[in-house]
Amino acid sequence: MPELPEVELTRRRLEPELVGKMIERVEARVPKLRLPIPAELAEVLPGQTIRSVGRRGKYLLFDCETGWLIVHLGMTGFLRFLPQAAPPGKHDHLDICLEGGSLLRFHDPRKFGTVAWTTDDPAKHPLLAGIGPEPLTPAFDGAYLFRVSRSRRVAVKQFIMDGATVAGVGNIYANEALFRAGIRPDRPAAALTLTECGELARTIRAVLEESIDQGSTYRVAEATVAYHPLAFAVYGRGKERCTRCNGSLEEIRLGNRSTVFCPRCQR
Ligand code: ZN
Repeated sequence: MPELPEVELTRRRLEPELVGKMIERVEARVPKLRLPIPAELAEVLPGQTIRSVGRRGKYLLFDCETGWLIVHLGMTGFLRFLPQAAPPGKHDHLDICLEGGSLLRFHDPRKFGTVAWTTDDPAKHPLLAGIGPEPLTPAFDGAYLFRVSRSRRVAVKQFIMDGATVAGVGNIYANEALFRAGIRPDRPAAALTLTECGELARTIRAVLEESIDQGSTYRVAEATVAYHPLAFAVYGRGKERCTRCNGSLEEIRLGNRSTVFCPRCQR
């Protein structure tokens, strides 16, 4: 599943190709993905120029002059910039054809992606309104995490994976950030000290930034999207050796998600 780093990499890959291009035509081949594809897109988008490609959490925001196209890649979604002559494959559900003979194509084998349209401030759209601060901005720091965790008895891992706490921290990055911060994932969020909150905010930012910098591998083949996470210290390594103390890593379920930690290094 594309996580925040893959969405940010998608944004960086597409922005230089799309900005300044006028939309000529929209072709949806299915009526809905996770939600219905707005029928008005075919009417409102032609003639508009894409002004910027932004991101909020795991949502991409295409500024199209009179409104915003909001796209979530879901479990298996992938956006490609292609020549219009490229024939659509089986899971190519939406084409946004651009001036100059190119198009933006949304490929999504499992159809859990989302395409929405708003003419209001996208930050107020129901899909985005409840999302917490961006983890790569100064608004997200230890003081913030400490303040919002005081009354929360939920496990700290579930707390940081809650999009209302912080935007876009998925299972992989929650596991890794907690390992680096030396914090057990099953501790109640309210039990964290201010120092631990500061360390956790720092490690969340670090794992996300490193993944973006390393260009996480996320490719589309004819019928599938292949997602190859980079080498991690704990994620996917249950019962293997801890890279820090050489002890045995432990695997538990938290919120029904695989959770791996080192009982010696994480307290
Ligand atoms: Zn260890």
